[in-house]
Amino acid sequence: MPIEAPVVPRKINLRRPEIMEAVQAQVLSHYRSELVERIRANGHVLSADGLTIKLAKEFGFCYGVERAIDLAYAARKSFPADKPIFLLGEIIHNPEVNDQIRNLGIQTISNKPTEQEMARLSSEDVVIIPAFGTEVTTRQKLEQKGCILVDTTCGDVMSVWKRVRQYSADKVTSIIHGKAWHEETKATSSQTIVSGGGHYLVVFTLAETDYVCNYILQGGDKAEFLKKFKGAYSEGFDPDLHLHAIGVANQTTMLRGETEEVQRRLKAAMIKKYGESEADKHFRFFDTICGATQDRQDALEKLLRQPLDLLLVIGGYNSSNTSHLAEMGEAQLRTYFIKNAAKMVSEKLIQHYDQHVQKEIETRDWLPADNVTVGITAGASCPNNLIEDVIRRLCELRGISVQALLAS
Ligand code: SF4
Repeated sequence: MPIEAPVVPRKINLRRPEIMEAVQAQVLSHYRSELVERIRANGHVLSADGLTIKLAKEFGFCYGVERAIDLAYAARKSFPADKPIFLLGEIIHNPEVNDQIRNLGIQTISNKPTEQEMARLSSEDVVIIPAFGTEVTTRQKLEQKGCILVDTTCGDVMSVWKRVRQYSADKVTSIIHGKAWHEETKATSSQTIVSGGGHYLVVFTLAETDYVCNYILQGGDKAEFLKKFKGAYSEGFDPDLHLHAIGVANQTTMLRGETEEVQRRLKAAMIKKYGESEADKHFRFFDTICGATQDRQDALEKLLRQPLDLLLVIGGYNSSNTSHLAEMGEAQLRTYFIKNAAKMVSEKLIQHYDQHVQKEIETRDWLPADNVTVGITAGASCPNNLIEDVIRRLCELRGISVQALLAS
């Protein structure tokens, strides 16, 4: 039988000084905002003529997103303009940024390419892996093709992969707190089964967590369990066999308080079932929320302690970390989750994303006519120029010139 030669991934150094210098200049020209920098320097507050804007202390682009964008731009600069470059899905979850990437001439293919898309790729093609990573099988297929991979997977995502691979090596089932349909969670899930024998189950809500806890403690209807979590567990996963030893990990962008609660409830179930002294054999966890997500949630928590009339959360509607910022706001005050300034149609009408019905809805009379304090934050995938657009639009709707605001 012929022995297949191991696939050696083709790598290229994009971070050459001459390339990165040009990339930095281009990235700044696309996403920087002088206005946002001025507000930051002004203690994150601006106030004039009855309008006060308070920016969270941490908001917008995180280090992982900046790196992914830099690498995508660097890829375009490193290869001849006529060389096709493909991106798996979206580089990050922000429509404007993805448009900019397409404008560079980078073509988008599915995050899990179909057979037809794979067939179209050749060994000469460059393929960019987005910040949230890709599934193991997709990566293997691309490597087997011989494609040149530009891997922008964030280091914090790879840390989660390391944890779940260790769980699998120790015959511990990974319980992943995350969104089963999200690219990052799909990539993380795929890591649990990479060496065979590992299993995973994705839980999203506390209600799902309680269901799993009850099953651990009392057993239940296996068919119902598998139906309920369809698409959120590994092939061959059996709740009667694979919940004896579990390890919790989470998508990097979940809500901190909720992830802690998931851990606490699962741990309590395992202690109840096996006893405190045996708990370590049956339960593990690693907090894998990334620093950037945490910083943005902490900063919003502080902002929400101040008197605000409403909160604007800016970011892509499919952005996990942004959706959690909106969730935090909603729990306390009128919150509008918008993807750009155009959603502030007038002072009477705003179009904003409602996560509960998963679509954009309209709200009337959203902007008070008298004195108003508006809190603003933005997800880790939202560039500063979009935040500036929102601030300018707010000023415009209140008939205030930005210059007046800056001069105050
Ligand atoms: S949100 Fe966190 S995990 Fe995602 S790219 Fe940013 S730093 Fe990395």
